[in-house]
Amino acid sequence: MSPAQVYLSLGSNQGEKRSLLQEAVKGLNDFEKSRVLKVSTLYETKAWGKTDQDDFYNLVLLMETELEPLELLDRTQALEIKLGRVRHEHWGPRTIDIDLLLYEDIEILEPRLTLPHRHMLQRRFVLEPLAEIAPGLCLHKQNIKHYIEVLKDEPIRKIGPLF
Ligand code: ADP
Ligand code: MG
Repeated sequence: MSPAQVYLSLGSNQGEKRSLLQEAVKGLNDFEKSRVLKVSTLYETKAWGKTDQDDFYNLVLLMETELEPLELLDRTQALEIKLGRVRHEHWGPRTIDIDLLLYEDIEILEPRLTLPHRHMLQRRFVLEPLAEIAPGLCLHKQNIKHYIEVLKDEPIRKIGPLF
């Protein structure tokens, strides 16, 4: 079986944000039967949902993996915990958040794993870095840039390369 291509969104708004994201990318690359292929620029974003907290650092990456979607989710959740994530309130501060955006064109609609990610089309901090590493990507027959054009949320700031 050839590996699946998977896009993930990573964010951090607590602690050493840049080094936590670096560790997360290395951790993902170390997963069995997996390899990180592309990493977007780092972006700075105002906290989404709950606004009374530190700004986020966000990026999107492409990896290839032979892990199944739920196996990959198990491992990304274990990596979040390893990097100090404690689950408190929904949308509250977190050392690291790793979300699966797209796993090939697989569709799953379960609380534990929804694919494509249920909020990805409303989030500039997902769409802008995603368009950067996958400019030709289409979802529901629309290019990713179409979804950016219709967004009404705040602009985000490009910080520069992660490493
Ligand atoms: P959020 O990412 O929405 O801020 P959490 O990281 O706390 O919140 O995730 C809440 C739950 O969302 C997780 O327990 C996970 O099982 C579930 N989930 C559903 N779909 C996905 C997905 N595509 N990627 C990551 N987690 C997901
Ligand atoms: Mg998450």
